[in-house]
Amino acid sequence: MTASIIDGKAFAANLKEQIARKVSILKENHNLTPGLAVVLVGEDPASQVYVRNKNKSTKAAGMNSYEYLMDDDVSESELIAKVTELNGDPSVHGILVQLPLPKHINEAAVIETISPEKDVDGFHVINSGLLATGGKGMVPCTPLGCIMMLKDKLGSLSGLDAVVVGRSNIVGKPMAQLLLNESCTVTIAHSRTKNLGEVVGRSDIVVAAVGVPELVKGSWIKPGATVIDVGINRIEKDDGKTKLVGDVEFIPASERAGAITPVPGGVGPMTIAVLLQNTVTAACRQLAIDEPE
Ligand code: NDP
Repeated sequence: MTASIIDGKAFAANLKEQIARKVSILKENHNLTPGLAVVLVGEDPASQVYVRNKNKSTKAAGMNSYEYLMDDDVSESELIAKVTELNGDPSVHGILVQLPLPKHINEAAVIETISPEKDVDGFHVINSGLLATGGKGMVPCTPLGCIMMLKDKLGSLSGLDAVVVGRSNIVGKPMAQLLLNESCTVTIAHSRTKNLGEVVGRSDIVVAAVGVPELVKGSWIKPGATVIDVGINRIEKDDGKTKLVGDVEFIPASERAGAITPVPGGVGPMTIAVLLQNTVTAACRQLAIDEPE
Protein backbone atom coordinates (compact mmCIF):
# COMPACT_ATOMS: atom_id res chain seq x y z
CA MET A 1 0.00 0.00 0.00
CA THR A 2 1.17 3.55 -0.65
CA ALA A 3 -0.33 6.09 1.68
CA SER A 4 -2.07 9.20 0.48
CA ILE A 5 -0.32 12.31 1.74
CA ILE A 6 -2.31 14.59 4.02
CA ASP A 7 -1.28 17.99 2.74
CA GLY A 8 -1.29 20.24 5.81
CA LYS A 9 -0.04 23.20 3.81
CA ALA A 10 -3.00 23.11 1.43
CA PHE A 11 -5.42 22.41 4.31
CA ALA A 12 -4.04 25.38 6.25
CA ALA A 13 -4.21 27.67 3.18
CA ASN A 14 -7.85 26.74 2.73
CA LEU A 15 -8.58 27.33 6.43
CA LYS A 16 -6.86 30.73 6.30
CA GLU A 17 -9.06 31.73 3.34
CA GLN A 18 -12.16 30.79 5.32
CA ILE A 19 -10.87 32.79 8.30
CA ALA A 20 -10.21 35.87 6.13
CA ARG A 21 -13.79 35.61 4.82
CA LYS A 22 -15.16 35.40 8.38
CA VAL A 23 -13.07 38.41 9.40
CA SER A 24 -14.41 40.51 6.54
CA ILE A 25 -17.99 39.58 7.53
CA LEU A 26 -17.28 40.51 11.16
CA LYS A 27 -15.83 43.87 10.08
CA GLU A 28 -18.69 44.67 7.77
CA ASN A 29 -21.62 43.45 9.88
CA HIS A 30 -20.34 44.07 13.41
CA ASN A 31 -17.52 46.59 13.06
CA LEU A 32 -15.33 43.97 14.76
CA THR A 33 -11.69 43.36 13.88
CA PRO A 34 -10.37 40.39 15.89
CA GLY A 35 -7.02 41.18 17.53
CA LEU A 36 -4.23 38.82 18.57
CA ALA A 37 -1.49 39.89 20.99
CA VAL A 38 1.72 37.86 21.07
CA VAL A 39 4.21 38.32 23.88
CA LEU A 40 7.78 37.18 23.28
CA VAL A 41 10.37 37.15 26.02
CA GLY A 42 14.03 37.03 25.01
CA GLU A 43 15.71 36.43 21.69
CA ASP A 44 15.40 32.70 21.06
CA PRO A 45 15.78 32.49 17.24
CA ALA A 46 13.16 29.74 16.75
CA SER A 47 10.62 31.68 18.85
CA GLN A 48 11.37 34.85 16.88
CA VAL A 49 10.60 33.02 13.62
CA TYR A 50 7.31 31.65 15.04
CA VAL A 51 6.27 35.08 16.25
CA ARG A 52 7.12 36.73 12.92
CA ASN A 53 5.08 34.10 11.06
CA LYS A 54 2.15 34.54 13.43
CA ASN A 55 2.26 38.30 12.95
CA LYS A 56 2.34 37.99 9.16
CA SER A 57 -0.50 35.44 9.03
CA THR A 58 -2.67 37.44 11.43
CA LYS A 59 -2.38 40.56 9.29
CA ALA A 60 -2.91 38.58 6.07
CA ALA A 61 -6.22 37.35 7.49
CA GLY A 62 -7.30 40.99 8.01
CA MET A 63 -6.95 40.86 11.79
CA ASN A 64 -5.04 43.16 14.13
CA SER A 65 -1.68 41.85 15.33
CA TYR A 66 0.03 43.26 18.41
CA GLU A 67 3.54 42.19 19.29
CA TYR A 68 5.23 42.78 22.66
CA LEU A 69 8.92 42.01 22.87
CA MET A 70 10.34 41.82 26.38
CA ASP A 71 13.95 41.45 27.48
CA ASP A 72 15.31 38.11 28.63
CA ASP A 73 15.71 39.46 32.17
CA VAL A 74 12.15 40.77 32.52
CA SER A 75 10.74 39.85 35.92
CA GLU A 76 7.81 37.49 36.35
CA SER A 77 5.75 40.31 37.87
CA GLU A 78 6.44 42.63 34.91
CA LEU A 79 5.36 39.90 32.50
CA ILE A 80 2.24 39.18 34.55
CA ALA A 81 1.47 42.92 34.58
CA LYS A 82 1.66 43.00 30.76
CA VAL A 83 -0.69 40.01 30.47
CA THR A 84 -3.10 41.63 32.95
CA GLU A 85 -3.08 44.83 30.88
CA LEU A 86 -3.87 42.82 27.71
CA ASN A 87 -6.69 41.00 29.55
CA GLY A 88 -8.33 44.38 30.04
CA ASP A 89 -7.75 45.68 26.50
CA PRO A 90 -10.98 45.38 24.45
CA SER A 91 -9.11 45.47 21.12
CA VAL A 92 -7.24 42.29 22.10
CA HIS A 93 -9.34 39.11 21.79
CA GLY A 94 -6.54 36.57 21.90
CA ILE A 95 -3.35 36.50 23.98
CA LEU A 96 -0.43 34.18 23.34
CA VAL A 97 2.70 34.11 25.45
CA GLN A 98 5.38 32.40 23.37
CA LEU A 99 6.89 29.41 25.22
CA PRO A 100 9.40 28.46 26.46
CA LEU A 101 9.95 31.29 28.94
CA PRO A 102 13.31 31.95 30.65
CA LYS A 103 13.97 29.69 33.63
CA HIS A 104 13.44 32.43 36.26
CA ILE A 105 9.78 32.79 35.21
CA ASN A 106 7.10 30.36 36.34
CA GLU A 107 5.32 29.44 33.10
CA ALA A 108 2.24 28.07 34.84
CA ALA A 109 1.79 31.32 36.79
CA VAL A 110 1.92 33.34 33.58
CA ILE A 111 -0.50 31.06 31.72
CA GLU A 112 -2.94 31.13 34.63
CA THR A 113 -2.94 34.93 34.42
CA ILE A 114 -4.27 34.93 30.86
CA SER A 115 -8.02 35.39 30.87
CA PRO A 116 -9.43 31.95 29.84
CA GLU A 117 -11.65 33.66 27.22
CA LYS A 118 -8.54 35.17 25.57
CA ASP A 119 -6.37 32.06 25.99
CA VAL A 120 -6.16 31.19 22.26
CA ASP A 121 -3.46 28.59 22.97
CA GLY A 122 -5.94 26.71 25.19
CA PHE A 123 -3.31 26.05 27.88
CA HIS A 124 -5.16 27.59 30.88
CA VAL A 125 -6.38 24.96 33.38
CA ILE A 126 -9.94 26.20 32.93
CA ASN A 127 -9.69 25.42 29.23
CA SER A 128 -8.11 21.99 29.83
CA GLY A 129 -10.89 21.32 32.32
CA LEU A 130 -13.55 22.39 29.82
CA LEU A 131 -12.01 20.14 27.15
CA ALA A 132 -12.00 17.20 29.58
CA THR A 133 -15.61 17.74 30.62
CA GLY A 134 -17.08 18.46 27.19
CA GLY A 135 -17.47 22.22 27.81
CA LYS A 136 -17.00 25.10 25.38
CA GLY A 137 -13.45 26.34 25.99
CA MET A 138 -10.45 27.22 23.85
CA VAL A 139 -8.72 24.11 22.45
CA PRO A 140 -4.92 23.91 21.94
CA CYS A 141 -4.05 24.70 18.31
CA THR A 142 -1.82 21.78 17.32
CA PRO A 143 -4.14 18.97 18.49
CA LEU A 144 -7.17 20.80 17.10
CA GLY A 145 -5.42 21.03 13.72
CA CYS A 146 -4.69 17.28 13.88
CA ILE A 147 -8.31 16.39 14.63
CA MET A 148 -9.52 18.62 11.77
CA MET A 149 -7.23 16.78 9.33
CA LEU A 150 -8.28 13.37 10.70
CA LYS A 151 -11.99 14.16 10.37
CA ASP A 152 -11.46 15.54 6.89
CA LYS A 153 -9.69 12.33 5.86
CA LEU A 154 -11.77 9.73 7.69
CA GLY A 155 -15.14 11.33 8.35
CA SER A 156 -16.41 9.75 11.57
CA LEU A 157 -13.69 8.56 13.95
CA SER A 158 -16.19 6.73 16.16
CA GLY A 159 -15.01 3.33 17.41
CA LEU A 160 -11.53 3.56 15.90
CA ASP A 161 -8.50 2.49 17.94
CA ALA A 162 -6.16 5.48 18.36
CA VAL A 163 -2.77 5.82 19.99
CA VAL A 164 -1.19 9.11 20.97
CA VAL A 165 2.54 8.76 21.56
CA GLY A 166 3.48 11.56 23.98
CA ARG A 167 1.61 12.95 26.99
CA SER A 168 2.59 16.61 27.17
CA ASN A 169 0.02 19.14 28.35
CA ILE A 170 0.24 21.06 25.08
CA VAL A 171 -0.02 18.23 22.54
CA GLY A 172 -0.37 14.64 23.80
CA LYS A 173 -3.01 15.01 26.52
CA PRO A 174 -5.36 17.40 24.66
CA MET A 175 -4.96 15.25 21.53
CA ALA A 176 -6.03 12.15 23.44
CA GLN A 177 -8.97 14.05 24.90
CA LEU A 178 -10.11 15.25 21.45
CA LEU A 179 -9.92 11.69 20.08
CA LEU A 180 -11.91 10.45 23.07
CA ASN A 181 -14.51 13.17 22.41
CA GLU A 182 -14.77 11.73 18.86
CA SER A 183 -15.51 8.32 20.43
CA CYS A 184 -12.18 6.68 19.60
CA THR A 185 -10.76 4.03 21.92
CA VAL A 186 -7.64 5.89 23.00
CA THR A 187 -4.29 4.68 24.28
CA ILE A 188 -1.74 7.24 25.51
CA ALA A 189 1.83 5.99 25.18
CA HIS A 190 4.91 7.62 26.72
CA SER A 191 8.52 6.96 27.66
CA ARG A 192 7.56 4.19 30.13
CA THR A 193 5.25 2.35 27.73
CA LYS A 194 6.19 -1.29 27.28
CA ASN A 195 6.28 -2.63 23.74
CA LEU A 196 5.36 0.56 21.89
CA GLY A 197 5.50 -1.31 18.57
CA GLU A 198 2.66 -3.60 19.61
CA VAL A 199 0.54 -0.68 20.84
CA VAL A 200 1.09 1.24 17.58
CA GLY A 201 0.50 -1.92 15.52
CA ARG A 202 -3.10 -2.34 16.70
CA SER A 203 -4.07 1.30 16.10
CA ASP A 204 -6.17 2.67 13.25
CA ILE A 205 -4.95 6.18 14.10
CA VAL A 206 -1.40 6.99 15.22
CA VAL A 207 -0.52 10.46 16.47
CA ALA A 208 3.18 10.87 17.26
CA ALA A 209 4.12 13.85 19.45
CA VAL A 210 7.40 12.87 21.03
CA GLY A 211 10.34 14.91 19.76
CA VAL A 212 12.52 11.86 18.99
CA PRO A 213 13.49 11.58 15.31
CA GLU A 214 11.81 8.61 13.60
CA LEU A 215 11.00 6.85 16.88
CA VAL A 216 7.87 5.26 15.39
CA LYS A 217 9.04 2.59 12.96
CA GLY A 218 7.34 2.10 9.63
CA SER A 219 7.09 -1.66 10.23
CA TRP A 220 4.92 -1.02 13.33
CA ILE A 221 2.14 0.68 11.38
CA LYS A 222 -1.09 -1.28 10.92
CA PRO A 223 -1.82 -1.56 7.18
CA GLY A 224 -4.22 1.22 6.18
CA ALA A 225 -3.80 3.23 9.40
CA THR A 226 -3.85 7.03 9.40
CA VAL A 227 -0.64 8.54 10.74
CA ILE A 228 -0.32 12.09 12.05
CA ASP A 229 3.26 13.12 12.75
CA VAL A 230 3.49 16.13 15.04
CA GLY A 231 7.24 15.87 15.66
CA ILE A 232 9.64 18.46 14.31
CA ASN A 233 13.27 17.37 14.66
CA ARG A 234 16.30 18.88 12.96
CA ILE A 235 18.91 16.23 12.19
CA GLU A 236 22.28 16.33 10.51
CA LYS A 237 22.62 14.56 7.16
CA ASP A 238 25.73 12.72 5.92
CA ASP A 239 26.84 15.83 3.99
CA GLY A 240 26.82 17.90 7.19
CA LYS A 241 23.71 19.86 6.19
CA THR A 242 20.58 19.59 8.32
CA LYS A 243 17.01 18.58 7.52
CA LEU A 244 13.69 18.33 9.33
CA VAL A 245 12.23 14.93 10.14
CA GLY A 246 9.23 13.85 12.15
CA ASP A 247 8.76 11.31 14.93
CA VAL A 248 7.73 8.66 12.38
CA GLU A 249 9.93 6.86 9.86
CA PHE A 250 8.22 8.46 6.91
CA ILE A 251 9.10 6.31 3.89
CA PRO A 252 8.55 2.84 5.43
CA ALA A 253 5.44 4.11 7.24
CA SER A 254 3.98 5.48 4.03
CA GLU A 255 4.35 2.03 2.47
CA ARG A 256 1.93 0.60 5.08
CA ALA A 257 -0.32 3.50 6.13
CA GLY A 258 -3.52 4.53 4.35
CA ALA A 259 -2.73 8.21 4.86
CA ILE A 260 0.12 10.12 6.47
CA THR A 261 1.22 13.69 7.18
CA PRO A 262 4.69 14.68 5.96
CA VAL A 263 7.27 16.66 7.93
CA PRO A 264 7.57 19.46 6.99
CA GLY A 265 4.24 20.39 5.40
CA GLY A 266 1.88 18.37 7.59
CA VAL A 267 0.83 19.41 11.09
CA GLY A 268 3.16 22.44 11.30
CA PRO A 269 1.29 24.78 8.92
CA MET A 270 -2.03 23.91 10.59
CA THR A 271 -0.96 25.22 14.00
CA ILE A 272 -0.86 28.89 12.96
CA ALA A 273 -4.07 28.60 10.92
CA VAL A 274 -5.89 27.17 13.95
CA LEU A 275 -4.48 29.95 16.14
CA LEU A 276 -6.16 32.49 13.84
CA GLN A 277 -9.37 30.45 13.90
CA ASN A 278 -9.25 30.38 17.73
CA THR A 279 -8.80 34.17 17.77
CA VAL A 280 -11.91 34.65 15.61
CA THR A 281 -13.86 32.25 17.85
CA ALA A 282 -12.64 34.06 20.98
CA ALA A 283 -13.61 37.48 19.56
CA CYS A 284 -17.12 36.29 18.64
CA ARG A 285 -17.66 34.69 22.05
CA GLN A 286 -16.43 37.79 23.91
CA LEU A 287 -18.88 39.99 22.00
CA ALA A 288 -21.68 37.38 22.01
CA ILE A 289 -21.78 37.40 18.19
CA ASP A 290 -22.61 34.24 16.22
CA GLU A 291 -19.43 33.16 14.44
CA PRO A 292 -19.92 33.40 10.65
CA GLU A 293 -20.19 29.98 8.92
P1 NDP B 1 7.42 17.09 25.25
O1 NDP B 1 8.89 16.94 25.30
O2 NDP B 1 6.75 18.00 26.18
O3 NDP B 1 6.74 15.65 25.40
C1 NDP B 1 7.27 14.54 24.75
C2 NDP B 1 6.51 13.30 25.12
O4 NDP B 1 7.09 12.19 24.44
C3 NDP B 1 6.55 12.97 26.61
O5 NDP B 1 5.26 12.63 27.06
C4 NDP B 1 7.49 11.77 26.69
O6 NDP B 1 7.12 10.81 27.66
C5 NDP B 1 7.28 11.12 25.33
N1 NDP B 1 8.46 10.34 24.97
C6 NDP B 1 9.76 10.72 25.00
N2 NDP B 1 10.56 9.70 24.61
C7 NDP B 1 9.73 8.67 24.33
C8 NDP B 1 9.96 7.34 23.90
N3 NDP B 1 11.19 6.87 23.67
N4 NDP B 1 8.89 6.54 23.74
C9 NDP B 1 7.63 6.99 23.95
N5 NDP B 1 7.37 8.25 24.36
C10 NDP B 1 8.41 9.06 24.56
O7 NDP B 1 7.11 17.47 23.71
P2 NDP B 1 5.85 18.22 23.05
O8 NDP B 1 4.60 17.46 23.28
O9 NDP B 1 5.89 19.66 23.37
O10 NDP B 1 6.27 18.10 21.49
C11 NDP B 1 6.43 16.85 20.87
C12 NDP B 1 6.94 17.05 19.45
O11 NDP B 1 6.02 17.80 18.71
C13 NDP B 1 8.26 17.84 19.37
O12 NDP B 1 9.01 17.35 18.28
C14 NDP B 1 7.81 19.26 19.05
O13 NDP B 1 8.78 20.00 18.33
C15 NDP B 1 6.61 18.97 18.17
N6 NDP B 1 5.61 20.05 18.15
C16 NDP B 1 5.15 20.42 16.92
C17 NDP B 1 4.18 21.37 16.81
C18 NDP B 1 3.68 21.73 15.46
O14 NDP B 1 3.15 22.79 15.27
N7 NDP B 1 3.80 20.84 14.47
C19 NDP B 1 3.66 22.07 17.99
C20 NDP B 1 4.13 21.55 19.25
C21 NDP B 1 5.11 20.56 19.31
P3 NDP B 1 7.23 11.09 29.27
O15 NDP B 1 6.05 11.95 29.58
O16 NDP B 1 7.14 9.74 29.85
O17 NDP B 1 8.54 11.80 29.50
